Amino acid sequence: EGSVVICAGCGAPLQSEMPEAPGYVPASAFDRDKPVCRRCFRIRHYGEFVPVAVSPDAYRQAVAGIARHPGLVLYVLDVFDLSGSMVPGLAELVGTSPVWAVVNKVDLLPAEVRPDALARWVRRLVEERGVRCDGVWFVSGRTGFGMDSLLSALDERREDRVYAVGMANVGKSTLLNRLIRAGRAEPVLTESRMPGTTLGVVEMAGTLPSGRAVSFVDTPGLMHGGRVIDRLCADCLKRAVPSARLRPRVYQLNPRQTLWIAGFARFDFVAGERQPIVVWVSNDLVVHRTKLERADTIGEERYEEVLQVPCPDCRARLGELRPLVVGAGRHRGGGRTRMDVPVPRQGCDVVLAGLGWITLFGRDLAGRLFVPEGIQVTVRERMI
Ligand code: GDP
Repeated sequence: EGSVVICAGCGAPLQSEMPEAPGYVPASAFDRDKPVCRRCFRIRHYGEFVPVAVSPDAYRQAVAGIARHPGLVLYVLDVFDLSGSMVPGLAELVGTSPVWAVVNKVDLLPAEVRPDALARWVRRLVEERGVRCDGVWFVSGRTGFGMDSLLSALDERREDRVYAVGMANVGKSTLLNRLIRAGRAEPVLTESRMPGTTLGVVEMAGTLPSGRAVSFVDTPGLMHGGRVIDRLCADCLKRAVPSARLRPRVYQLNPRQTLWIAGFARFDFVAGERQPIVVWVSNDLVVHRTKLERADTIGEERYEEVLQVPCPDCRARLGELRPLVVGAGRHRGGGRTRMDVPVPRQGCDVVLAGLGWITLFGRDLAGRLFVPEGIQVTVRERMI
C-alpha cells in the first residue's frame, strides 16, 4: 500500500527484491502479524548467525558497541584476499579490546605455503593499519581445521565477550556457527538491538571446552566495492574464487613469452634468463602460455575461446588492463626506469588482490604485468 513495514527483529525496512540486502523476506513468507526478515527468522528459529552486509555508516554504529563493552575481537580474514579483508578504520572502533587475526579458508591454501611467512604477512597488514595484533590463527570454517586450538585458546583467556568482525564474505558466519555449536547442541540467542541503528548486532551464548560461558557477538559484514569479488557476476565469481585447494601451475618461462591468467591479468617476460614462474589462482581459471607476439591476438580475437572469463560485462566493470613494470636482477631498477614491481634477490610473491598470486624467484628479468585498475597489486615475501 506504499507504507514501509519494519522487521520486528532488526528494524530494517522489509523488502522482497534484494536477497543480499537487509530486511529481505521472500514475498511468499511475509507474515502480517509478526513481520520479520529472513535473517531474523533464521537467527530466532535455528540459532544461526546469518551474514548481513551494511553501509559504512550503519557499520560504524553497530561496531561502536565494542569500545563500550570491551571483549576479545576475532578479526576474521579471507586468506585468499587478505588486503581486501582489511576493515577500514578498525583501530578506532575496537578501542582497547585485544584483537586476534583469524585467517579463514586455509583449506584453499596449497600445502607448500609456509605458515610462519604467512603469519608475518598477516600481522604486518593488520598492524600497518594501526590495529595491534595479539595473535594469528589459521582456521577453516568449512572443514573445521584449527577450531579446537582456537577454542582452547579462548578458554585460557578471561574475556567473556568474543566479538567477530570482518568484511562481507570472509566466512565470519560460517566460523561463528561452528564456535557456538562446539560447546552445546542448542545455542541460546540473546539478540541485542543497538538503539538508533537499523541492524543490531547478534549475540549468542556459547560454552568453552572447560564449561566456561561466553557470549559470541556477531557484527555486520562491510562491503567496500574495491574487491574483485564485489565486481564480478555470479558466473565469473564461481570460476575466479577458488573452491578447492590451489594447485600450483609452474612454468619454465623463456624470454619473449607471455602468460595470460584467464582474462584478468597478463605477464610479459620481455628479457632475462629462462626461469620458473609459479601461478596460484583458482583451478578453474585458464592459464595460457603463448609467444609475446601472439599475446595481443589471444587477448582480442581468441578471448572467448581461450581465456573465457571475465565475461564482457565484468570486463567492462573491472576496466582496461594497465601495464606495471616488473624488474629483477640487473633489470631491478636504480637506473632511469621506474619499477612498479622491483623483485628482490630472494624473489617475492606478486599478489593480485582477490585473484591469487605469482611467485618470482629473483632471477634476472625485465617484464610487464597487466592488470585491471580494479585489482590491487602488492609485493610480499615468498610464501613457498
Ligand atoms: P560472511 O559474509 O563473512 O558471514 O561469510 P559466510 O560465512 O557467509 O561465507 C562466505 C562464503 O565463503 C560462502 O560461500 C562460504 O561457503 C565460503 N566459506 C566460508 N568459510 C569457508 C572456508 O573455511 N573455506 C572455504 N573454502 N570457503 C568458506
